[in-house]
Parts: sequence; structure tokens; C-alpha cells
Amino acid sequence: MKKKFSFVFFHSLGFKIAFVILCIGIIPFLVCVPISLGVYESVSIHTDATNLMAQAISYNSKLVTSGYVTGEENSIMDKELKAVADSYNGRILIVNSTLKIIKDSFQADIGKTVIWENIIYSMQGESLYYYDKHTNYLIVSVPLANSDGDTVGVLVINKSMDYLQQNRDMFISYFLISSVIIVALSLIVGVFSFIYFSRPMKKMAKSLDSIIREYESILPEQKSYNELENISSKFNEIIGKLHSIDESRQEFVSNVSHELKTPLTSMKVLADSLNGSDDVPIEMYREFMTDIGAEIDRETKIINDLLSLVRMDKSGAQLNISAVNINELIEHILKRLKPIADKADIEVVYESFRPVVAEVDEVKFTLVITNLVENAIKYNNEGGWVHISLNSDHQFFYIKVEDNGLGIPEDSVEHIFERFYRADKSHSREIGGTGLGLAITKSSIAMHKGEIKVRSKLGEGSTFDIRIPLSYIEKEVQ
Ligand code: ADP
Repeated sequence: MKKKFSFVFFHSLGFKIAFVILCIGIIPFLVCVPISLGVYESVSIHTDATNLMAQAISYNSKLVTSGYVTGEENSIMDKELKAVADSYNGRILIVNSTLKIIKDSFQADIGKTVIWENIIYSMQGESLYYYDKHTNYLIVSVPLANSDGDTVGVLVINKSMDYLQQNRDMFISYFLISSVIIVALSLIVGVFSFIYFSRPMKKMAKSLDSIIREYESILPEQKSYNELENISSKFNEIIGKLHSIDESRQEFVSNVSHELKTPLTSMKVLADSLNGSDDVPIEMYREFMTDIGAEIDRETKIINDLLSLVRMDKSGAQLNISAVNINELIEHILKRLKPIADKADIEVVYESFRPVVAEVDEVKFTLVITNLVENAIKYNNEGGWVHISLNSDHQFFYIKVEDNGLGIPEDSVEHIFERFYRADKSHSREIGGTGLGLAITKSSIAMHKGEIKVRSKLGEGSTFDIRIPLSYIEKEVQ
């Protein structure tokens, strides 16, 4: 199903890169602009207030000594204060000790009483300022003191702070312009970095396509960035594994066909020779039919072993776990194998160090012990011995199968667990080996999360050590 373009775009690397760059560009901007605006405003207000207070204080003696503060007429002073008020686009008031306005640069409120917190505090000797956000005025109130230090009135200066608003507007318009530029730049950088960074990925996707279509067998080495090189080498590992799985599958199929064909060929030869000759004596018939029967048994054994192996195949296999008395299980198996051992005059000794009950799949685990003990009997000399021992600790149980038989050639030891591998082909065939027993054993042990180790010396014998957890813990689903 085709995904909608917009959906694909929002999930694309390009969009994500552009978004990150945009955030990196715009977030500090969004945080810094209001903070700097606030700082700028409060610094400006404070500076202006300090300057106004200094100016007001400088008028103190002039206003007090001239009696202006007590209401004396002084047209020069009137003009001077008016000029100062006009320069601030504001207003100057002088309030006397009874909170009455006695001078007003607007001449509007003379004689009126003013009751305002700051003026009352200033009347007690404090210089204060207040910024009125709504009217955008800065109001400074400074006490006017006589030579004895007594406050005789308050000088109030209003200053218009319109310039703050203008600067703020200018700041915001610069901010908006910069934001547009940052957004545009982020998008451009995002698009270019997407093109740059996605190029190796596209190349890789193309190589993967040709691997899917089987034009190539590995991803070509590409110099891009470490992460992608890593992924590409992991892909090559997976591809390598798939190739080797495919090869081993093909090898397995050809081995299976070969193994199944051999008894059939023998049967055909036997049957043809019986059919091709007239007056075959009954003894010869019997002998050939016995041989055909043996070949059928062999074919059956190969098929049974193959079925066990397939059932054991890790991916599909399921274990039927139950608490099994391992001592009893071994004794039972040895009882079954006793006739074969007796036939070859082999002494089988079983030694158990303690009773062991473990969580295993009885059927699959029986195959493990049967195969190991059967091999120790099969690949032995007449009059030889097989020792089996069982032990355990708090976590695992240990089984050792030791024989003083033929032993395994050094270069074969690492291969004996492979399917259809036989160290000594002619002997193995002679005694009815399929080459699958140890492969089954190993798979079963792996399913029980155990381990198997082998030590062997040609001509002296072999020892197989297995270690299995007493409790079966299923792999947790992640
Ligand atoms: P097979 O059915 O041929 O016995 P296995 O998978 O059981 O197949 O064993 C693989 C090969 O390992 C055997 O063909 C044999 O050569 C060798 N082998 C296994 N167990 C022993 C042993 N106890 N002593 C000597 N050789 C052994």
C-alpha cells in the first residue's frame, strides 16, 4: 500500500534534520528575546529613574531657599521647570507638607490635595520611582528638605517612556525578520544535509536491492559515516550467514539423497541379481532377501534419525519438559542397550554419585544418552568397557560417557557433531551408523541449554562430558 506523501515526508530524515536545526536555531532565540527585552526595559527604567532623582535632588536647595516650595511666585523657576517637564514630554509637580499641589507645570491641578503612597513615603524622606505600564510614564518622587533636614515638600517628575515602546516594537520587528531568516536557513540546511546524509543510505538501499535480486553477493564497501559502515558490515555478516545456511542446506539435501540412495542401490543390485539368474538356489534367495531386509532396516534407521533431527531443529522444536529421575532414565537405557554390549563382550559400568531429578524432555534427552552409550559400544573393541557416571551440583547435572574403544582421529574430533559425518566411513557403515547420532545429541543438548565436550585419542578411547541445567528456564520473550 502506498503511503501518503505528507506522511512519508514527516517520517523522512530530511524533515527530522530540518526540524532539529530549526529547534537549535529558534529555541534559544525564543528564550533569549523576551529575557533581553525584560532586562533592557528594567535597566532603562532604573537608569532613567536614577537620572531623574539626581536632577530632582539638584533642584532641592534652589526650590527650598527661594521659598518656591512654600508657594512663592518665581516666574523664572516656573519657566525652568516647565522646560524640564517639556523635555521629558512629562509633568512636574511640587507638593507641600500638607500634600497640596502648589506647583504644576500643566497649571491644571494647583491647590488639589494628592494622596499617593509614594508621595507620602517621600514626605518621610524617601526618594522613590514608579513605572506605570498603562500610561507608559515613569514617576519619580523626591523629598525637598530644608537646611535642618526636615522635609518641606516633594518634587514629583513624570517622564514619558514612549521611547521604550518604540524600541520594543523595533526589537520585535527585528526578531520577526530574524525568525523568518532562521526558518528559511534551517529549511535550506535541512534539505541540503538530508541530501548529503541520505546519499550513502540510498546507495546502500540500491546495493541491497541488487542483493535481493541476486546480482551481487555482498554490500560494496562504502566510505560514509561510522554508523552506516557498521550497519553495512552487519548486513554483510547476515548475508554471509544466509549464504552458509543455503550452502549447508544444499549439502544436507545432497547428503540425504546420497544416504537414502545407497540402501536402495544395494537392494536393486540384490534384486536384479536374483531376477537375472535362473534356478537360483533357495539358500541364495534367503541370503539375498536377508541382505535386502538389512538394507530396509538401514533405510528405516536413516529416515528415523532424519525425523528426529528435523524435530530437533531449533526454530520449530518444542520441549515437553517434566521432572525426570535421571538415574532411573540411565538405568533404563542401559538395560535396553545391554544385549548389544553383551554381543560385543563389552562391560558397561554405571556409577551414580547422587540421585538426580532434572527438568528435561524425556524423549529428546533419552536420544542423547542412547546415542552416546551406543557409540561407545559400537566404536569399541571386543572385551572393551564403557563407563557412565552421573553427578550434580546445585545448578547442573553432569554425565560422563567414557570408553576404551577405537578413539577418534584428531582431525575428525571437531567434525563428529556435523550431520552425516563419520570419522571412519567404512567401519561406521559396517556397524550401521548413519552419521546423524551426534548431530541429534548436540541439538537436543542445545535445546536443554546444556553443553557437550569430547576428548579422544585414536586407539585409546573417547570421553564425552555433558552438562545440563537442573531446571529448565525458557528464554524470556522480549
Ligand atoms: P554414526 O551413526 O556414524 O555413529 P554419529 O553422529 O553418532 O554417527 O557419530 C559420528 C562419528 O563419530 C562416527 O561415525 C564415529 O566415527 C565417531 N564416533 C562417535 N562416537 C564415538 C566413540 N565413542 N568412539 C569413537 N568414535 C566415535
